[in-house]
Amino acid sequence: MAFLEIARLEKSFGPLRVVRDFNLSVEQGEFISLLGPSGCGKTTVLRMVAGFETPDSGAIQIEGRNVVRQRPNARKIGMVFQAYALFPNLTVAQNVGFGLKVAGVPRREAEERVAEMLALIGLPDLGARYPFQLSGGQQQRVALARALAVRPRVLLLDEPLSALDAKIRVSLRTEIRTIQQRLGITTIFVTHDQEEALSMSDRIVVMNGGIAEQVGTPFEIYNQPTTKFVANFVGTISTLVAEVEDPAGGAVRVAGQTIRLPRPVEAPRGGRIGLALRPEALHLGAGDGRDTMLPATIADVQFLGSVIRLQLHTGGTTVALDTFNRPDMPPPRVGEHTQVSFAARDVIVLDS
Ligand code: ADP
Ligand code: MG
Repeated sequence: MAFLEIARLEKSFGPLRVVRDFNLSVEQGEFISLLGPSGCGKTTVLRMVAGFETPDSGAIQIEGRNVVRQRPNARKIGMVFQAYALFPNLTVAQNVGFGLKVAGVPRREAEERVAEMLALIGLPDLGARYPFQLSGGQQQRVALARALAVRPRVLLLDEPLSALDAKIRVSLRTEIRTIQQRLGITTIFVTHDQEEALSMSDRIVVMNGGIAEQVGTPFEIYNQPTTKFVANFVGTISTLVAEVEDPAGGAVRVAGQTIRLPRPVEAPRGGRIGLALRPEALHLGAGDGRDTMLPATIADVQFLGSVIRLQLHTGGTTVALDTFNRPDMPPPRVGEHTQVSFAARDVIVLDS
C-alpha cells in the first residue's frame, strides 16, 4: 500500500457531483500535482485530505490508516493556501511557530524549529517582521515554513503561487521543489497552470469535472495524453483529420498522402480519426526523419522570443508549429506558401 491512498472518493454539494470516483496512490516523498480548470474539484479533494470537508463515500489512508473520521489536527497535515493566510497581527516568527505553540512544543525547542524553518526558506533574519512588511513571495515562503514547522506527514499546497507576479512565481517553483526534496515530504500541489504542474511534479493528475482523467509523469501527460481533454488542456495541440486505409497496418490518408503510423488504428477502414501533433513535432520545410510533408500557407506569426509560434493552413485545417528563433534569419511572413513536415512516430492518436 502506498503512503497516501485515496480510493473511490465521492463528494457532492447538493445536486452537484464535485468529485467522482477519485482514486490516487501517492508514494512517500512524491510530489503530485492536481491539474485542471477552475471548478473541476481540485480544492475539494485537497480539503477532504486535510479534513476540512467530509467525503460522501470512499477512503483516505495515510500510512495504512483511514483518516476520514479523524479531525484535521490529528491527521498531521500541513497546508498552504493561495494567499493572505498569515496572521497579520503576529510576527513572522510567531506565525511560523503558531502550530508548535498549539501543539504544546516547549519554548526552547519551538524557537530552534522556527529558526531552522526560516533558514530553510531563505529568510533567516526576518523573524521579527510583520506580514505586511514582506513581499507576496516572502509571505508565501513564510506560509510554507509555518506549514512545515509541525513536521507534517503530508504537505498540501492549494494554488500557492497564483497570486504572485510572473517572475516570483517561476523562481518559487524551483524553491518549493528544492525544499520539498530536501525534506522528502509527500506533497499534493493544486494548480490550474500546466507549466507549474509540468515543471514541478513527479506525477500529475489531470482533473476534469471531478474525475481524474489521466495520471502520469509530466513526460507521459504531455507526450502520451490519453484523452482529447488532457491533450488540449496540457500544452497546445493541432489535429489533422485522416481517413483510415488499413487499420491493422496503421495506414491512414491525410491531404492525399498515406501515412503509416507505428501502431494499428482502432477504427474501421474508411473511418475518420484525428492525428494530433504538438507544435514542436511539426517542422517548417523538410526535416530530418520527418516522413510526411504537406503543402501549407502561413496564417499567423507570433514572435515569442526564443520560440516563434506559427499558425499554418494545411490538410484542411489550421495547425500550430513552433520553430526556434534564429538571430540570423527573419521569421516567415503571413501568406507565404511553404511545406510542413512531421514524423509518423510523433503523431498522437486520440480516441475520445
Ligand atoms: P477547483 O479548486 O478545481 O477550482 P473546487 O473544488 O473549489 O474546484 O470546486 C468544485 C465545484 O464545487 C465548483 O463548482 C464549486 O462551486 C463547488 N463547491 C465547492 N465548495 C462548495 C461548497 N462548500 N458548497 C457548494 N458548492 C461548492
Ligand atoms: Mg481551487
